[in-house]
Amino acid sequence: MPAELRFPRSDSRQPALKPSVAEPLAAALWCARQGWPVHPLAPGHKTPVANCRQCRETKHEPRDCPCLPAGRWCHGFHAATLDQQRITQWWRAQPASGIGVACGPAGLIVLDIDAHPAPLPDRDRLLPGIAIDDHVDLTGMANGFHTIAVLAALRGRPSPANDTSTLRVRTPSGGLHVWYRAEDSRRWQSSVGSTPGRALAWQVDIRAHGSYIIAPGTTTTSGSYTPVGDVRQPAALPQWLAQELERTGHLPAAHIPAPRPVPPRAQQAVLAAGGGRERTARLLNTVLAPVEACGQVAEGAGFTDALNRAAYTLGGLVAAGRLTQDEAVRALSETASAVRPGQERRAEQIIRSGLAAGLKRPLHTSGGRP
Ligand SMILES: [Zn+2]
Ligand SMILES: [Zn+2]
Repeated sequence: MPAELRFPRSDSRQPALKPSVAEPLAAALWCARQGWPVHPLAPGHKTPVANCRQCRETKHEPRDCPCLPAGRWCHGFHAATLDQQRITQWWRAQPASGIGVACGPAGLIVLDIDAHPAPLPDRDRLLPGIAIDDHVDLTGMANGFHTIAVLAALRGRPSPANDTSTLRVRTPSGGLHVWYRAEDSRRWQSSVGSTPGRALAWQVDIRAHGSYIIAPGTTTTSGSYTPVGDVRQPAALPQWLAQELERTGHLPAAHIPAPRPVPPRAQQAVLAAGGGRERTARLLNTVLAPVEACGQVAEGAGFTDALNRAAYTLGGLVAAGRLTQDEAVRALSETASAVRPGQERRAEQIIRSGLAAGLKRPLHTSGGRP
């Protein structure tokens, strides 16, 4: 940790402090020196300082706003900067402002683990894409620390909440921010509790492109954001977490649907793979029919749902030994890409999560599954 910047230790139990004056500016400058663009938060609050009057009263996109090139702090993280002079001006004008870091341009992916008391959601929302059997006792599962620990355990990894190799910041409400560095140019997308269709785990938000994270050195009326231990640098995003983020839709969907020849029908591919597979082919044909039916309509038509169900069913058949996982993935991918060309990445995410859920429920032909 740089000598010029001393954060209060997280174990020094602090009551809600009056925001100190010198510290936020020093912390903001320090963040900028790490290559993390910063913007001011309203003193005492978690939200950005208010826009100027013009920006409040006229509706416009941040990229069209004259305030940003002029060095004003309108539009929250869109105004974030590395410019030490501008930062100094901003915090001199309002010394008790907290510090927001624009995660995307900073190349950061931050796990925002909450410990809010809240009723448990449905089982399928605890770890999206991972089925939790009805017989699993969820007593004691109460917050994001638990969901992320279970996800990590399922992957044979320690919980990121205990990752002593990276910058972790305790929040005033008892949550934890686990900071990681993106290792490549993929544009990781944010997800917050309410983001539709994208979540890593219940009570675990992802701060990446499209959002900001509150930096250590910030004090709100609820308390301080204080680093845990001595590590002040984010470690590289662990590979397994990158895979989980991709699985749960934190990369932008592939765009630019290009016209392409329709690939051989999935069941023909399976037939060609070996003799005597007619039965498997018939099975695939039946399971994939609803997905193929979506191809007759340009948009919507429940494609996601149909593909998810097919993947789930095939996962069950794989678990029951009726076909191999490779065959299932190939059949699903080929059908999906014929039906919705250009959306392969999204389809791949749906297939992977549907299959994973189905694999846990072997589907024997004698009857349904529990
Ligand atoms: Zn403005
Ligand atoms: Zn504006």
